Amino acid sequence: MSFDVICFDCDSTLSKIEGIDELAKRVGLGDELSKLTDAAMNGDVALEDVYAKRLNLIKPNRADIEWLSYLYISELVDGVEVVFSQLEQHNKTVHIISGGLLPAILPLAKLLNVPQSHVHAVDIYFDDNGAYLGYDIDSPLTKNGGKAVIIKSLESNNVVMVGDGQTDLEAQKVGAKIIGFGGVISRDAVREKADFFVEENDIRKILTFDLI
Ligand SMILES: [Mg+2]
Repeated sequence: MSFDVICFDCDSTLSKIEGIDELAKRVGLGDELSKLTDAAMNGDVALEDVYAKRLNLIKPNRADIEWLSYLYISELVDGVEVVFSQLEQHNKTVHIISGGLLPAILPLAKLLNVPQSHVHAVDIYFDDNGAYLGYDIDSPLTKNGGKAVIIKSLESNNVVMVGDGQTDLEAQKVGAKIIGFGGVISRDAVREKADFFVEENDIRKILTFDLI
């Protein structure tokens, strides 16, 4: 099976970290908030119920986001650069679709040669001094079903979504196939419902599903 459009989740798929959890740890709120993220990714609680709660407690400033952008890159999952260069060589359309924070993910996307217009994530706002002002509360990616909304907007009926979480599985609702990636966190709910599943921690394994 070959796909025209290949979409990737970011946190625990392209990078080994959960960005918002790393921000929480940085400000001393780690344990409490990472439980919320995990519950949302397992489908036990609604994403919209945890999204505002996490950010309004953390209030990440511009320097925190810059720090996180380096962490995303230094914790890159094995094989990611090879996968993206192979997809580019075969003229595949690639998107990154994430519930994470846009300015923290853009440097990683740039490294992988993904244009900014193909990065779908949640924008965040700062004042002139770099202090946190808020996030894009209208973004579909702060809610369950958001990844399906973005994929529908891509207007292709031949899409595959690669991701580790419940929010990635939701892309099935609009006809996307799902490759569950268990190389960082292996979730039972995703393994059961995904069309394909990778247990290995090297993402090059997805190329064995004849994506190209
Ligand atoms: Mg993820």
